[in-house]
Amino acid sequence: MALPSSTSSASAGAPFERAALVHHTGASLASRLPAPGWRTRFAPAPTGYLHLGHVVNAVFVWGIARAFGGRVLLRLEDHDVSRCRPEYEAALLDDLDWLGFVPDESPTRCFRVGTTPHRQSDNARAYERALAQLDAAGLVYPCTCSRRDILALTGPVDPGVEPRYPGTCRRAHHAPDRTVARRVRLDDTVVHFHDLRRGAQQQQPAAECGDVLVRDRHGQWTYQFAVVVDDLAQGIDVIIRGEDLLASTGRQLLLAASLGRTAPPRLLHHPLLTHADGRKLSKSAGDTGVRELRAAGWRADALIGEAAYRAGLLASPRAVAAREVAALFAHTG
Ligand code: GLU
Ligand code: ZN
Repeated sequence: MALPSSTSSASAGAPFERAALVHHTGASLASRLPAPGWRTRFAPAPTGYLHLGHVVNAVFVWGIARAFGGRVLLRLEDHDVSRCRPEYEAALLDDLDWLGFVPDESPTRCFRVGTTPHRQSDNARAYERALAQLDAAGLVYPCTCSRRDILALTGPVDPGVEPRYPGTCRRAHHAPDRTVARRVRLDDTVVHFHDLRRGAQQQQPAAECGDVLVRDRHGQWTYQFAVVVDDLAQGIDVIIRGEDLLASTGRQLLLAASLGRTAPPRLLHHPLLTHADGRKLSKSAGDTGVRELRAAGWRADALIGEAAYRAGLLASPRAVAAREVAALFAHTG
């Protein structure tokens, strides 16, 4: 199976050239990273199969870690139990293994024998404790709003865009047993942070997204909360992820600070792959699924090279084995 036209879809946002990385950081990546031994994570959600977008993320995560003395932790982000399936988790671990990306820490060893903090569905007690800590600080309140209630106040938003929470229940003071849904108040501060690729960033989460939902009406922990608790508990120093999560970063930094995180993580948001018509790759797209491409005869090194090329890390596609991805970053300084 051929991948959809490489040339047209290579331009996912600004092409990511080595020169651009140097330009954006203003110094070598190495000098912006912690001393060797730092930790990052590869954190897929087992809500579908791995696709080429995940391979791009793995190239950045393992490439930067291997080039600059980092360790990679594998975390299964299955907080949304309604959408996760054991067969996706098994496939994800198998595809990662086939690609050759080996984590330094992973849940796979205890995969069949018990729980692991590296799988979010095993982590409810950590989330409970973190929520209790924020509650004791007076930052938590019950929220009875449905998405429809929120949209009725904010007006319609484009598909995929989350509406800003207007703060209805912050003022309503509901009794805690009205609902299990909880929000955390955010200070009305401007958050400044440095992105290792995009440079200085500034966000105002209270104005942009409003108070953060940390547990929903079904009792499920939200991505925004689980990821912050885990990154703190698991000592993640560097977060390397796609640009679709850039808008979440400010609120995550505020939440982390409320939970007592004193040294914020370093951050790098990399380009996303899109289809030629601008649609983001999705797990359901099928056309870039690692499973399908494997079945169609693609070799792992060819697929990694294709991902690196599409992300702007190579001038033209060529085979790159997982153990070679450090070389894609080692010369940026
Ligand atoms: N689990 C998220 C995803 O699959 C990544 C979370 C993160 O890197 O913060 O997109
Ligand atoms: Zn509410």
